Amino acid sequence: MKDKAANPFVVAIDGPAGAGKSTVAAHLASRFSLLNLETGAMYRALALKALRTGTDPDDAPAMEVLTRSTRIELEPADTGNRVLLDGDDVTQDLRTPEVTAAASRVSVHGPVREWMVAAQRALADHATTGVVMEGRDIGTVVFPDAQVKLFLDASPEARGERRFEQGGTAASREAVVQDMQERDRRDRSREQSPLVAAADAVLVDTTNLTLSEVLARTTAIVAARIAHPAA
Ligand code: C5P
Repeated sequence: MKDKAANPFVVAIDGPAGAGKSTVAAHLASRFSLLNLETGAMYRALALKALRTGTDPDDAPAMEVLTRSTRIELEPADTGNRVLLDGDDVTQDLRTPEVTAAASRVSVHGPVREWMVAAQRALADHATTGVVMEGRDIGTVVFPDAQVKLFLDASPEARGERRFEQGGTAASREAVVQDMQERDRRDRSREQSPLVAAADAVLVDTTNLTLSEVLARTTAIVAARIAHPAA
């Protein structure tokens, strides 16, 4: 085990879809020169591989087998991460409704999660700077000792509205909101590492905050921890 001094500086950001995690992560990464790692993109890449290879995303043993022949890399880019699946850039293919739905399904399987967590820890270990890691289980499972843990949340209505405004699909507002709620339900109720705030996470409810208020608040939390590292 590495000693505490050798641990990377980690800002863990968790929360449901549409709470503002990606925007906050990108801002904090640029503000504090941290590597921004989007773990949702890794689940999406594995889901894409399942769709391309005809593997059933609900079939846990088949998904575990698939992980053994899969390599997912995240590379920093100006906007979010560039995602490489077995060496191919699949960044532009990860936001379709099909991949979104399949990512939610592949993420319930224990062996898939264990494989992801190991890969995510390795990414942070190899980073030459601290990292901002965004997902659903970062503060609870991937980095339970993260120096900063943020849990972003917002009302289902606000989150649904934001997702719809982000666009990208021809789906109706109702369909977008329903899909999002179904994915949330699956994230919160799965047996292995369900979506839940870590006991020591700072909860930021973004429902009634402007974007600049959210960024100001989360920036202040990270700045305070950098000024006063944990003993
Ligand atoms: O964050 P994003 O919407 O890209 O994540 C896609 C899916 O991957 C989520 O719906 C969630 O089910 C899953 N996920 C997860 N754990 C993470 C990140 C994402 O289960 N750390």
